[in-house]
Amino acid sequence: MKIVIIGGGPAGLMAAEAAASTGAHVELYDAMPSVGRKFLLAGKGGLNLTHSEPIEAFLSRYGSQRSFIEPAIRSFPPSALRDWAREMGVNTFVGSSGRIFPTDLKAAPLLRAWLRRLRQAGVQFHVRHRWRGWDQEGNLLFTSPEGPQNVHADAVVLALGGGSWPHLGSDTAWTQILAEHKVPIAPLKPANCGFDVGWSEHFRTKFAGQPVKTVEVTAKTVDGIVIRQRGEFVITETGVEGGVIYTVSSHLRDRIEKEGPTTLWLDLVPDRSLKRLTQDLSKPRGKRTLATHLTRCAGVAGVKAGLLREVVSKDVLADSARLASAIKSIPLTLTAPRPLAEAISTAGGVSFEALDDNLMLQALPGVFCAGEMLDWEAPTGGYLLTGCMATGHLAGTAAAAWAHAQRAQPT
Ligand SMILES: Cc1cc2nc3c(=O)[nH]c(=O)nc-3n(C[C@H](O)[C@H](O)[C@H](O)COP(=O)(O)OP(=O)(O)OC[C@H]3O[C@@H](n4cnc5c(N)ncnc54)[C@H](O)[C@@H]3O)c2cc1C
Repeated sequence: MKIVIIGGGPAGLMAAEAAASTGAHVELYDAMPSVGRKFLLAGKGGLNLTHSEPIEAFLSRYGSQRSFIEPAIRSFPPSALRDWAREMGVNTFVGSSGRIFPTDLKAAPLLRAWLRRLRQAGVQFHVRHRWRGWDQEGNLLFTSPEGPQNVHADAVVLALGGGSWPHLGSDTAWTQILAEHKVPIAPLKPANCGFDVGWSEHFRTKFAGQPVKTVEVTAKTVDGIVIRQRGEFVITETGVEGGVIYTVSSHLRDRIEKEGPTTLWLDLVPDRSLKRLTQDLSKPRGKRTLATHLTRCAGVAGVKAGLLREVVSKDVLADSARLASAIKSIPLTLTAPRPLAEAISTAGGVSFEALDDNLMLQALPGVFCAGEMLDWEAPTGGYLLTGCMATGHLAGTAAAAWAHAQRAQPT
């Protein structure tokens, strides 16, 4: 019995492991010269594997798609993921924010151990094999350095990824193949992404690349619900990106899609009340420049002072009460999310309505889907890798069970 996994990211590798553990023969195909490239990139940021918060809070991070992904996560929860890493000799720790990382904050040792374990379990790897669809007989069609290959499979798991960082392999070409087979696919959109602001040339030249540390951002959902988050972000050539922006990015993206440019409010001094800030800024300025006054009385300097001057009019800068209000609530107009290719992850994908409870495509019996190519999104914090590995685990287990059941049926 042969199970073919297409895509060697965390979802596909986990599907391979789950299918192989049932005794099935597993072959994994990937278009790139090596597997796990985005997983390795995630390691550059410390490899946030999962999160330690209670399971109810954890599941709530998947928002409107929670009910679809919940069964997969309940059967492979964050605790199982930590145990799995430990079995491969990689211990994990809980960071101050509750996020869980490997002790050495690296992806490469974990990936090496994982591939070793998969090979020991009999999984065969075929890299530089790009999946193109099916031939007339229902065999899988690949292009490879040795020419076209037609491959028979008793069941298939597609784990082809979303659309971010396409040079690492996940180029979304699968959307066209599946659409031709009438598989419903929700439009792919950037998630955990930056936004364009349209800085002045002066601001961009002076501040692009600089971090803006501990601010509070206020955003609105499409339903008008106000969301406040504290954190840091980075000024980019075209706008803003990074931690605190990602936490509200799905709402900002949806608002822009619905209404056009949207506003994000920045509180540059979240630990100082408006009353205290107004009092501090009302102190006589004497001969001091505005820059010195802002630094001494409000602790606003460098890139924060630059932001203030970029957005606020001269009249406001000259009036201490209005200036204090502006520092507590600078309106930034965001014109567009950055393109999908630059995002951390992808929203949209294969619709859950197209799948059965085991992630098998109803239109294509024996073909299962897993990972970021499915229609769910989540913030950063380990929810992405957990979602990919949990759906991979479910799809791999189910693909093997389905192939077994087909074999057992009388012909
Ligand atoms: C900079 C960055 C940092 C990140 N950090 C974290 C983090 O710390 N924690 C976290 O939870 N998440 C993080 N993520 C997100 C996480 O890496 C992804 O969600 C995850 O890798 C998606 O897994 P996947 O297996 O679904 O897809 P992928 O990892 O994208 O794998 C898909 C695979 O399919 C292959 N493929 C695609 N099309 C074909 C085809 N036609 N034929 C054959 N092969 C094909 C690709 O080559 C690729 O190997 C980060 C992402 C980025 C970009």
